[in-house]
Amino acid sequence: MSRKRTVVLVGAGHAHLYVAANARELCERGARVVLVDPDEFWYSGLATGMLGGMYTSEDDRIDPRALITANGGEFLRDRVESINSGRRSMHLTSGREMAYDYLSLNVGSRVNNDLIPGMAGDSDVWPIKPISNLWRLRQTLEVRYAGGESPHLAVVGGGPTGSEIAANLHALARRCGAQPRITLLNSGERLVGQAPAGASRTLFRKLTKRGIKIETHTRVTRREPGTLVANDGRRIEADLVVLAIGLEANPLVHKLGLPTDPCDGLRINTYLHSIADARVFAAGDCAHMEGFHLPKLGVFGVKQARFIHGNILASLTGEALKNYEPQTRYLAILNLGDGTALSTWGPLWWNGHTSMWLKDWIDQRFLDGYRRASAANIH
Ligand SMILES: Cc1cc2nc3c(=O)[nH]c(=O)nc-3n(C[C@H](O)[C@H](O)[C@H](O)COP(=O)(O)OP(=O)(O)OC[C@H]3O[C@@H](n4cnc5c(N)ncnc54)[C@H](O)[C@@H]3O)c2cc1C
Repeated sequence: MSRKRTVVLVGAGHAHLYVAANARELCERGARVVLVDPDEFWYSGLATGMLGGMYTSEDDRIDPRALITANGGEFLRDRVESINSGRRSMHLTSGREMAYDYLSLNVGSRVNNDLIPGMAGDSDVWPIKPISNLWRLRQTLEVRYAGGESPHLAVVGGGPTGSEIAANLHALARRCGAQPRITLLNSGERLVGQAPAGASRTLFRKLTKRGIKIETHTRVTRREPGTLVANDGRRIEADLVVLAIGLEANPLVHKLGLPTDPCDGLRINTYLHSIADARVFAAGDCAHMEGFHLPKLGVFGVKQARFIHGNILASLTGEALKNYEPQTRYLAILNLGDGTALSTWGPLWWNGHTSMWLKDWIDQRFLDGYRRASAANIH
């Protein structure tokens, strides 16, 4: 009888939720499937709504243990510290060593707060990743607002996430009956630079109308206590800072001894495995697909999910692997915190309550599917 091969899934990201929900298929091909994650899956689609008070933290989470164990696999609540791809083994925070036959990485991304001096180590600075930060930020603000405080909040980064965060910080202050004092700082000329110009203008108008101060052409160069210093020497009052300056791959990918891109992650091919090791797969924000520059967005991890699952399965059985071809357009919907949302699709854009309804429907359907898969075999 042939030896059971071990497939280790590191990180309960978007793609691995799918692999976990379908782990039985891998087990039926003679594999032992283990998912390792120190946390739960926090869904970024609902994250800004959770910050603004529209959703609870339970609404936003999926328990990876329930998901994989209901579907034939195992779960290990642990963090991978380093991986030796030559020896096919990894070292975990608990001190445990684990061997693998096939490895798949879906460990996401981080905000590099070292990029702006004075940010790292300041407890009043809140990077937008991990998503659980936004839940803790909400709790912190609720306490401060309840105590009659009205801190100055600065959001650094006027991309889609920074803009959504500013809108939902405003919503949170309003829910708490507090006076919002929010500044959104953007190094470029317009918010969400990649969106159609009309969408950017509408967003700018909507946020300024609520009293959110938007400073464009403002690159933050330094954090000092209670203040941010801009490139032109201006000082911006900021008791709490939310850092939304862009995402870079989880640094774990640089600890495998395999080729990586410094910011974008493990270099993979269209089979979603390392360009140098066909036993190491990667998906989502931690992977850099050669020849493409995919934005760090959950939608790509979701689309890669079936391919990574199918290609791990094919590797076990010796069948041909399939190419993943990324889509060139995707629907982006920003929750504006007031029951409306702004949608963009290539050059098209629209906004209003219907956009928010659509976003909520898409997000809830995604999460409900995995909640059902987690409960599938409990009885
Ligand atoms: C506030 C916010 C809102 C966003 N909104 C959207 C949106 O509406 N639509 C969209 O498409 N994208 C959105 N994004 C982008 C999106 O969050 C990321 O692209 C997405 O989370 C990447 O998913 P992933 O599957 O790569 O990893 P993630 O979903 O981030 O999962 C990574 C997992 O790896 C685990 N992990 C990390 N390190 C280790 C380790 N060493 N060992 C074991 N496990 C580890 C983590 O605990 C986590 O569970 C948003 C981002 C933010 C911050």
